[in-house]
Amino acid sequence: MRTAYQYKLRPTKQQVIELDRWLAMLCAEYNYLLADRFNWYEQNRSPVNACPLICHLPELRDPPDYYSQKKTLPQLKKTHPWYKEIYSQVLQDVVKRVKVTFDKFLKGDSNGQRSGKPRFKARNRYRTLTYPQMKDGCWQGNLINLPMFGQVKVILHRSIPDGFKIKTASVTKKADGYYLTLSMADKTVPEIKPDFHPDSITGIDVGLKEFLTTADGETIAIPQHYRKAQKRLGVIQKRVARRKKGSKGRLKAIKQLGKQHKQVADKRKDFHFKTANYLLSKYDVVAHENLNIKGLVRTRLSKSVLDAGWSNFLSILTNKAENAGKLVIPVSAHNTSQDCSNCGEKVPKKLHVRWHDCPHCGCSLDRDHNAAINIKNRAEGHPVLKAQRLLRNSRIG
Ligand SMILES: [Zn+2]
Repeated sequence: MRTAYQYKLRPTKQQVIELDRWLAMLCAEYNYLLADRFNWYEQNRSPVNACPLICHLPELRDPPDYYSQKKTLPQLKKTHPWYKEIYSQVLQDVVKRVKVTFDKFLKGDSNGQRSGKPRFKARNRYRTLTYPQMKDGCWQGNLINLPMFGQVKVILHRSIPDGFKIKTASVTKKADGYYLTLSMADKTVPEIKPDFHPDSITGIDVGLKEFLTTADGETIAIPQHYRKAQKRLGVIQKRVARRKKGSKGRLKAIKQLGKQHKQVADKRKDFHFKTANYLLSKYDVVAHENLNIKGLVRTRLSKSVLDAGWSNFLSILTNKAENAGKLVIPVSAHNTSQDCSNCGEKVPKKLHVRWHDCPHCGCSLDRDHNAAINIKNRAEGHPVLKAQRLLRNSRIG
């Protein structure tokens, strides 16, 4: 079982300067490695025997990959000796980051969803550095020991859970300071809880007006304070746009904007956590539509889905469920709102029709409620649930 905790850091003035210096160097290296990969494609996109008029093949070489790029690091430290001051694993992690970005671009993620062409990062957009392997005993009181960087003060608003080992540590620069994210693992926690109840199941559907609707017909609304924070974000965005480029007032507004963005993100995250906790306190299994968010944006719910951060919520929910020994199941989104949840007949309706009235069986209920029941029903056949039911029945019998 893995989990992640985030803490605020209290670096000294000197450490802030040093962190910025590291980030600047890592950013430069990130861009360099990205350029190296782009250049190879530029130079090798045509076969050798069909070279265009102006031959631009300076050297024949294999495409740069994770390993070959990693091998360039010792050379970098020779030509740019100040890179020796960065902990080598932190530098290696940049190579990995380039690899992950490129793989997502070329091959797509685990769902086959390809992301856009990787972009060079401006200095102020490169905000995170990662220690991929933390050693035991890296904590001393409220100090974390970051190899070759030093001890940094941490605001421990909660202690590290018992039995967990710190695996990786990331330092991120945000609008209001520096944050430490620790990824931790505990191998002793079982995958599924012993009192896991496969029949304690619900489905959830994204709403247009509500954040979600469950298969029991319960709705969870997007909180007002989140809407307000977002409204204020719009106001500040306009302020930035109105002010003259390069002016002091504009810089000030941009700073405000960063803070407001953070506030909106914090509020949303808090709401997502609370909602996930609530659902998992009530159910052992939660089913949801396997949404292709990109496709969805183009078609139906667009703004409301992005606003509500549905995919963020689902990853929080899935994570929480895993840690609690519970289950979150994605199901096919095909016709969930059209099919009748009672008799299974297809009842076509346009998006503005908010009520499901089945002419075949007389079933009548809210459109999203009907969809949530369909989602729940689709998850019932999940192999883990079947196995758990068999296990339970054999115990009872
Ligand atoms: Zn029906």
